Amino acid sequence: MEAPPGLWYFIRAMAVLHVLGTGGATPTAERDNTAFALEAGSRVALIDCPGSILLKLRKAGLDRRLLESLLVTHVHPDHIYGLPSLVHGLMLMEGRLRLFGSRESLEFCRRLLDLFGLRGPKIRMRVEPIEVVPGVRFEVHDGLEAEGIVVPHTAASLAFHLYYKDSRGGWVVSGDTPPVSEIFDRSGAADGLVHDCSAPERFFVRYPDLRKMHTSALELGRRAQEAGVSLLVPCHFFGEADFHLEEVEEEIRRDYRGRLIIPRDMQTIGLSEV
Ligand SMILES: [Zn+2]
Ligand SMILES: [Zn+2]
Repeated sequence: MEAPPGLWYFIRAMAVLHVLGTGGATPTAERDNTAFALEAGSRVALIDCPGSILLKLRKAGLDRRLLESLLVTHVHPDHIYGLPSLVHGLMLMEGRLRLFGSRESLEFCRRLLDLFGLRGPKIRMRVEPIEVVPGVRFEVHDGLEAEGIVVPHTAASLAFHLYYKDSRGGWVVSGDTPPVSEIFDRSGAADGLVHDCSAPERFFVRYPDLRKMHTSALELGRRAQEAGVSLLVPCHFFGEADFHLEEVEEEIRRDYRGRLIIPRDMQTIGLSEV
């Protein structure tokens, strides 16, 4: 989204989703692992933490001092391996980074940080784990609230329903997941849905086990249309599978007739004005 400076200020005063990556576990030249920075209420919350997050925040024009929280969907490497590097990069900055996730994800993060000695006295950036109880709305920071939704990608995976100031129905971010009814039920009344769309249907036909963990473009379009999703942002495109995003778009469009944004890495999406 391009915007002139005056309008840009206006949008920034609202809520902006910075797409830091759109790929699956295998990056390509164009797509790194999927992650987002949500700018709302003059602060920044990350959703997942693959590599080079401080670099990506800088490229997105976001001051790292505004970063206060990280929402962890699950602890597969492509979603969390950058956490030690992030904390290391912030170690001289007095502050706290609040980690929201399932109990299992938080325990994994603690062990990951301890491997690198990143919770010791020399680390001024304190990591504060906060367990998310599914279905219970919590404050991420002033101006941003969220709710965790259980998804069956791993035994301890979460999607998040995000509510920022002035949001109508909020946004749902699925994380990695097969189609889940609660996600689509909520998304029908939400302002938008960011959803796993790992590959076209033909890969799911060839590797049926994928259906237990991810969503095909065809299935996503069908479920989003049935649910009445008004704006759909597919992501987590497998880099190891040979397909173009035109094929993803064509499959989604077979059923889905709402607004569709197929995101590029480092794209911004103004959430409040959609
Ligand atoms: Zn993943
Ligand atoms: Zn995963």
